[in-house]
Amino acid sequence: MKNILLLTILLSIFCKANAQIKFITGYQNANIDTVVSVANYSTNTICFSPHRDSLNTETVWYNFGITGFRTDTIITFLMNYNNIYYPPNYPVVSYNGKEYFNVKASQRNNINQFFVKPNNDTVYVSTGYPYTYSRLQQLITNIGNNQFFKIDSSFTTPKGHHLYLLTVTNNAVKKRNKKNVWIIARQHAFESISNFVIEGMIKYLMSDNVKETDLLSKYTFYIVPMVDIDNVISGQSGRMSYPRDFNRDWNSPIHSEIAFLERWIKKSGKNRFDMFFDIHATYPGGRTTNVFSYFDIHGGNSKSQNLSQFWQRFYTFTHYRPKTIDDTNVYQEGYSADYYNAKKYKRLQFSTTIECDWNVNSRGKVWQIADYLNLGENILKAVPVK
Ligand SMILES: [Zn+2]
Repeated sequence: MKNILLLTILLSIFCKANAQIKFITGYQNANIDTVVSVANYSTNTICFSPHRDSLNTETVWYNFGITGFRTDTIITFLMNYNNIYYPPNYPVVSYNGKEYFNVKASQRNNINQFFVKPNNDTVYVSTGYPYTYSRLQQLITNIGNNQFFKIDSSFTTPKGHHLYLLTVTNNAVKKRNKKNVWIIARQHAFESISNFVIEGMIKYLMSDNVKETDLLSKYTFYIVPMVDIDNVISGQSGRMSYPRDFNRDWNSPIHSEIAFLERWIKKSGKNRFDMFFDIHATYPGGRTTNVFSYFDIHGGNSKSQNLSQFWQRFYTFTHYRPKTIDDTNVYQEGYSADYYNAKKYKRLQFSTTIECDWNVNSRGKVWQIADYLNLGENILKAVPVK
């Protein structure tokens, strides 16, 4: 309530609505609360809030454009927030809706403030680098007839979109002891950066470099790049959505996507199942300054040493070691994917949730798309082939 009052006061000072400035939202992954968001032409100020409803209980994700603003003065953006973890420290800006760059934001009195220099008549802003379903489809088109990839898109989501499962292996090598690695991402719709990590993995698996290794002779990779596709497309925050968060849905699924995933995993063979990765992202307002890797000691998969050794191998060529963290919470709302798989498949080396960061990395630079792509590639390079 306090936040709404504060926003109302703020709006009355800076954002007396008038018609000149128009919001643009008619595109994939867009999100803004059209009721409380207003713009003022004379001060060139945009007051806004991400959409709030049952799919956006955590109002993290925004993604919208504006046009009709003054081009002779800086544009001020004021985002209202109700939790310090939600507003991004480094929101992104674009002049064409395609290439984005970071700007620094500052937080005060439940308002996240940042400035944009107008370049032309349109500006797009977002919590972080958007990763759309269209981008994923383009990536899948680019895989083309790659000999190692099989693409299954037979399952459709409740809103009629294809859920992609990529099976990647060297089929010429028939090994009885070939191991399976499952990798999923984007159970939480706002965590766009996790999809660049997946893209880095897919590009590595498509590259000539992978042919010089035994990776695809020893393993079959099962990759589900985008789990909560419907909410990604419609631009929802997703995490902790009603009636149940996707990543709390694994013990008795109400989401058809999760039920289908569980059947796929089971069908791929429990005795071969070796590693499980679920790629996520922290809150953009957090200040974790790193990537970290959870495992769940209650999952009966207490082999944290295997996970530590994995990140140790990663360290030898990246000189960076993500923290391995015991996740000691058993969520009351339901099982997470990493907990479910650790509990059900005891032969797994490890089952982990990787949390990617939006902020400054361990080298003091803001994470960029190229860094996420590298992270994905390097995770696969750390999978042992000896
Ligand atoms: Zn998440």
